[in-house]
Amino acid sequence: MSKVTEISPGVYKINGRFATENLTPGRKVYGEELVKADGVEYRIWDIYRSKLAAALAKGLKSLEIRSGSRVLYLGASSGTTASHISDIVGGKGTVFCVEFAHRPMLDLLKLCELRNNMLPFLADARLPETYASVGRVDMVYQDVAQPDQERILIVNADKFLSKGGAAYIAIKSQCIDVAKKPEAVYVESIRLLSERFDILEKYQLDPFDVHHLFVACRMK
Ligand code: SAM
Repeated sequence: MSKVTEISPGVYKINGRFATENLTPGRKVYGEELVKADGVEYRIWDIYRSKLAAALAKGLKSLEIRSGSRVLYLGASSGTTASHISDIVGGKGTVFCVEFAHRPMLDLLKLCELRNNMLPFLADARLPETYASVGRVDMVYQDVAQPDQERILIVNADKFLSKGGAAYIAIKSQCIDVAKKPEAVYVESIRLLSERFDILEKYQLDPFDVHHLFVACRMK
């Protein structure tokens, strides 16, 4: 018998593992386990495959995604983490998925056909004016692994977020400066982000994802 506990709106713990309610019952996205309890199907959220799940495992408290939220996701790849956000925001919410590589976009397109609340944009996240049709969002989530990650978040926040809006970023130190110690890279990243955001929480994601700092912030 599976014991299900809701730890944040739309996020569950099932026998010690994170899970979201499957928006498309019977379908897996990345080979994750499906679990049924009291007639509801959940998807186990793999902390080694999703940095947002890893951040939850590290103690992230301010998960600002809710049923009905509008989330701009930069670096959606084939949709692993975006699909769990899609479960959380549900049928009344939307996940706008920006990805510039063609290969993962092929898988993302198939996923978006099944999930009506996920909209794909083949675009460079450095150029938010190319997907301006997105409009205002409640949250920007960014996982692009680029040397100018902080600036990419800031130009998108300036365009799509209002004051007080939430932003999450997974900073990959090795992409910013492979010669520097990760901690030194993070200090500079936090300094850059602090120009535009209040920093709410930050977590190094090892051992789930090495050389990554996950930062939750709020637009000033
Ligand atoms: N966030 C995904 C997940 O958890 O399921 C994994 C993202 S993967 C680490 C980074 C993705 O960002 C890659 O698919 C890459 O093609 C994409 N990316 C990198 N730079 C980008 C840019 N400037 N614009 C759009 N996508 C970008």
